[in-house]
Amino acid sequence: MSEISAFVAEGEQDAEATVRPKRLAEFIAQHRVRDQLDLLLKGAMGRGTPPDHILLSGPPGLGKTTLANIVAAELGSGIRVTSGPAIERSGDLAAILTSLAVGDVLFIDEIHRIAKPAEELLYSAMEDFRVDVVVGKGPGATAIPLDVEPFTLVGATTRSGLLTGPMRDRFGFVAHLDFYSVEDLDLLLHRSARILGVPITEDGATEIAGRSRGTPRIANRLLRRVRDYAEVRGDGTVTLETAREALRVYDVDALGLDRLDRAVLTALVDSFKGGPVGLSTLAVAVGEQPDTVEEVCEPFLVRAGLLARTPRGRVATDAAWLHLGRNPPAAPAG
Ligand code: ATP
Repeated sequence: MSEISAFVAEGEQDAEATVRPKRLAEFIAQHRVRDQLDLLLKGAMGRGTPPDHILLSGPPGLGKTTLANIVAAELGSGIRVTSGPAIERSGDLAAILTSLAVGDVLFIDEIHRIAKPAEELLYSAMEDFRVDVVVGKGPGATAIPLDVEPFTLVGATTRSGLLTGPMRDRFGFVAHLDFYSVEDLDLLLHRSARILGVPITEDGATEIAGRSRGTPRIANRLLRRVRDYAEVRGDGTVTLETAREALRVYDVDALGLDRLDRAVLTALVDSFKGGPVGLSTLAVAVGEQPDTVEEVCEPFLVRAGLLARTPRGRVATDAAWLHLGRNPPAAPAG
């Protein structure tokens, strides 16, 4: 990486970290989840015990990592961060668990991707605050029980359906984060713009909010792109015009669909006559992994009413045909 691009990457991450809410009161929207968490945390703090384990599920970029950090901040506890794919062996997890201090929060992102032996170790840690570390192999192997300090596990997943029953049952509180409304993203953009010192008009914020696919991370990213445009080609203020122009330059369409979203819809409509087509075939047609299509594109396309998941495969809705400027096929007679 050149010095300049390293500098740019650091600057972007700084901007992302600066706008990340640190406390529950700063977390925008998701009122039900916020209320429930508030009760859970205050109840536990009143009793002086760590709260129940928390599972956060929902599409990427809706605030799961942010909420995990908020939980630790509200409790005044330390936080350890890891992810399912990073825990390859149960020994890795045992080392983390036995080094936790009383009341710490352990955040495991993508918890549905944790390896099976580590998952089993996690069960006893979650339930009894104890782990059995197996030393040696074969008949001579012995299990050494080790205590784990009382802690709160915060698990995040984009695929709660892939979690095993025993794992899901061990979470005392499960929250599903949903896509944000345009009004909520409007608030979020005004907050981020204020923190970043970017002047923004009402209609400028609404334009960006409407193209952010219901996702805070995308809203913040688009705000940074529009800010660049406003500073380089305008007077620095984010307005309706600068937002529209910048988003045209960055290929973000009126519904906020990006290149991959449009590639998926175009393949469905042009190559498969609107479907139904299986996920893996569709993914090959757009040159992506099935997981990426399923976890990153589809939740929003389904919610926007552009794609339907049916038992026979993925289907483009009439709205998808119209959005691509095509005439939907006539419904079969009868
Ligand atoms: P992933 O699963 O991809 O890690 P995530 O759900 O953990 O995504 P976060 O990283 O927590 O998402 O959030 C993305 C960005 O969106 C954060 O930088 C944060 O600034 C912002 N954000 C998310 N939710 C909110 C919110 N409710 N209020 C304000 N900002 C938010």
